[in-house]
Amino acid sequence: SSERKVRVRFAPSPTGGLHLGGVRTALFNYLYARKHQGDFILRVEDTDQTRFVAGAEEYINECLAWCGLTPDESPLKGGTFGPYRQSERKPSYRQFAEQLIEKGYAYYAFDTAAELEEQRKDQPNFRYSQENRLNLRNSLSLSKEETQELLLAGIPHTIRIKVPTDETVSFTDMIRGQVSFDTNLIDDKVLLKADGMPTYHLAVVVDDKAMEISHVFRGEEWLPSAPIHILLWEYLGWNEHMPKWAHLPLILKPDGNGKLSKRDGDRLGFPVYAMNWKDTQSDTMTKGFREMGFLPEAFVNMLGVLGWNDGTEKELFSLEEL
Ligand code: GLU
Repeated sequence: SSERKVRVRFAPSPTGGLHLGGVRTALFNYLYARKHQGDFILRVEDTDQTRFVAGAEEYINECLAWCGLTPDESPLKGGTFGPYRQSERKPSYRQFAEQLIEKGYAYYAFDTAAELEEQRKDQPNFRYSQENRLNLRNSLSLSKEETQELLLAGIPHTIRIKVPTDETVSFTDMIRGQVSFDTNLIDDKVLLKADGMPTYHLAVVVDDKAMEISHVFRGEEWLPSAPIHILLWEYLGWNEHMPKWAHLPLILKPDGNGKLSKRDGDRLGFPVYAMNWKDTQSDTMTKGFREMGFLPEAFVNMLGVLGWNDGTEKELFSLEEL
């Protein structure tokens, strides 16, 4: 409803330094919160431990502070909501994954990585989806007893969403307007991994609900994931709490050909990172705006006016004015 308190989140994965696009997403969330007297929250999405990079979380905090985009709720500030790291909320995600199984919206899958690899070899377009889920090893294709036996024997398994057949998931994006997805083209994504960690899809929905997020501003690369999230909101019985969605167009390469990447910065001689990023694994340093001598006000101003103006000739805006 229009009464709803505005609560937005910036939800980076600690997989490296923050590049322009990430800071811009943080900025847009921050500005929306300020404009509506809402809360701007930082959530560290660290469920993919294979991509975890030491020092990235500290970098994110320092970067937001440099830009003046300080989160309103943080344990340091005595925030009321916490914890903020998804890796610390494991039991909560499992509980919801199991609830989905009970309701018939998810299922256990026992296929090993090698078995799935085998399938992919035979069918290059193999997808774990309604077309072939009954030919695979999961609680939909096995009997109740067989499933129970595998679970009791402690056989490693994932939990997958059961995407419905022949349905359309539609929603109104604040930027794109009406968007629709055909569920027949969506895979049964993994929700809970064999190690008990949730995937991004489950964690993002459970946490946006727990943190009472009202609006999700995120990069357009997440648009294809939105129908999965919407199905989960519905299946968990949380429809009335669902946030409004806004998928931000990505910052492209100067020639408009694809998403701006770290390498473009090196090639074109301008930084793409807010601050120097030192990759300890490869021992390489990527230059940042801060160390190149840019003022944070100039950096934030640039991101604010990328693809936007206020209808006048004005080009310089303070954070406050933005
Ligand atoms: N962890 C995701 C990222 O790194 C966040 C996506 C979202 O905001 O839902 O971009």
